Amino acid sequence: MNNLKNLRGTVDLLPDQLIKWQNVEKIILEQLSRASIKEIRTPILEMTELFIRGIGEGTDVVSKEMYTFLDRGERSCTLRPEGTASVARAIIQKGMSSNPLQKLWYMGPMFRYERPQAGRQRQFHQLGVEFIGYESVRSDVEIIALAWDILEKLGLKKLNLEINSLGDLNDRLNFQKSFLKWLQINKDFLDLDSQNRIDKNPLRILDTKNSQTKKILESSPKLHDFLSKKSLERYLELKNQLESLKIPFIENFNLVRGLDYYTHTAFEITSGALGSQATVCGGGRYDNLIKQMGGKDTPAIGFAIGLERLILLAGKELDVERRTDIYIVNQGLLAEPFAINLSRKLRNFDLLVELDLSGASFSKQLKKANKLNSKSIVVIGDQEAANKEFVIRLFDKKNSVNNEEVIPFDSDIKLERWLNSNLILK
Ligand code: ATP
Ligand code: MG
Repeated sequence: MNNLKNLRGTVDLLPDQLIKWQNVEKIILEQLSRASIKEIRTPILEMTELFIRGIGEGTDVVSKEMYTFLDRGERSCTLRPEGTASVARAIIQKGMSSNPLQKLWYMGPMFRYERPQAGRQRQFHQLGVEFIGYESVRSDVEIIALAWDILEKLGLKKLNLEINSLGDLNDRLNFQKSFLKWLQINKDFLDLDSQNRIDKNPLRILDTKNSQTKKILESSPKLHDFLSKKSLERYLELKNQLESLKIPFIENFNLVRGLDYYTHTAFEITSGALGSQATVCGGGRYDNLIKQMGGKDTPAIGFAIGLERLILLAGKELDVERRTDIYIVNQGLLAEPFAINLSRKLRNFDLLVELDLSGASFSKQLKKANKLNSKSIVVIGDQEAANKEFVIRLFDKKNSVNNEEVIPFDSDIKLERWLNSNLILK
């Protein structure tokens, strides 16, 4: 038989790993719902044109990383490499940009054809938040604070917030002129990729990962020096507000972010604990995107967090599974159907109940309950089933029986009283 394997850069997440994923997702979702941010789900598969127009042709993502193919109807389709373009499309398509203010989140798989390594996959997951219709500096600050708080709630340490302003289109054009001159003079010192970008998309050169080019860029003109008075004031206001919230930040004038649609605020959160794939969260303002894609003039800001990197960073305490409340040991012709019924009844009390389906001996089943460290067990033999009652036993820390009671199957009152007097199960 051929060895069937998953595709390079994709992973199977198995139950043991998913404990952490689920705990992380739970904390994230709680935090988002406390901030009254609503979920949006868009298709994973989109028209290729959406990303070409939305992200920009000269970007790494569009030029080298997309999974693009023709479907059976000869339409060019792409597995989404990020979420913002789809959210913008949905907003325009549903006429939602006439509803001026919306705070949205999405979570799910993204696809980029990249070289797989720790924290970098071809199918990976992002949590994204988009504030649509929001123009104020306060909305920039709320979004940055939200990302920061989510990462802190997950126990991430050694976080650095880097910020920059990309100004508006005019500021960028002014900068580009002088940057292009500098690039022509220094062309021979740049890596090949960057040399190729001089004509196509010079700003992207600032986002290079090539360390030698990075070094040379230190002496290049800075976009920051070309910001208009208005853009600069906006940026100063952002810094003031972050300072007043005591969110520490570093200014990085070379931070441009990989996608074409950003304006004004750009930010990244990196972790000193992540090695070379250090960026956990990237975000920024994209005031022109929705209009450029055919919608109304709608300012917006958002961020995306890479969940794989988050999982690498989140603390061990999130790797702990909820402990089984009750393990149902059962054997016998009468006992087995009775046990299924009882498991359903107990689950109605919001208890984590595992029903043993092995049919093995009582002692083997008890061993399994013990190994699972279940807080209590219920033992049902044919005798209990015939009497329509069950024995429930709570264990103390040393695994000896702490409290044992016989409860009639039909008496919810007695069961509730027992549960209430054994609060460990609540
Ligand atoms: P990088 O510089 O690491 O390639 P990026 O600028 O391409 O990141 P964004 O498009 O801003 O990344 O996506 C936001 C976040 O999604 C990143 O900060 C990262 O945490 C995560 N991410 C991006 N690409 C991948 C990938 N291939 N595998 C895992 N996570 C990724
Ligand atoms: Mg990338």
